[in-house]
Amino acid sequence: MTLTSHAIVGAAIANLAPDHPGLGFALAWASHYALDMVPHLDYDVDSLTNDIRPVHRILWNRRAMGKISLIAADFAFGMLVCMVIFAYDRTTFVATLAGVAGGMLPDFLQFCYHAWKKFPWTFFQKFHDFFHHPDKMKDKRVRGVASQILLPLAVLVGYFLVK
Ligand SMILES: [Zn+2]
Repeated sequence: MTLTSHAIVGAAIANLAPDHPGLGFALAWASHYALDMVPHLDYDVDSLTNDIRPVHRILWNRRAMGKISLIAADFAFGMLVCMVIFAYDRTTFVATLAGVAGGMLPDFLQFCYHAWKKFPWTFFQKFHDFFHHPDKMKDKRVRGVASQILLPLAVLVGYFLVK
């Protein structure tokens, strides 16, 4: 799923117990795999995996930089949305940061895997692939995007009902 979807779900979980950001981080991390189990359409960063090796050449690769810009925009948007929704004091700010970080972490571990292809990144990649739904939904775009939007929305509604 997009980093924004993972961030919203992670931050919602972490803010259920904002006094325990460590626990929030761990549960948000776990939520990433649960969310990836739902069939969804990801934006296409597949070719990035071929473009980031060797890592130090990324800055000279325009195609890779385009995709990294997309990921950076997704990251920034997700962070901003979560801060606006969840953070209103120091405690909720830290909890939101922990939730966003935990929620997004597995996708950054994927980046490490594609860049270095050795332990421990290979382990995390296998773990991620195990949970990620095999249907990439390239031919079911509407449903694929809908699940990206509706799932975090449902979690948000649940969050505000519980809070
Ligand atoms: Zn993922």
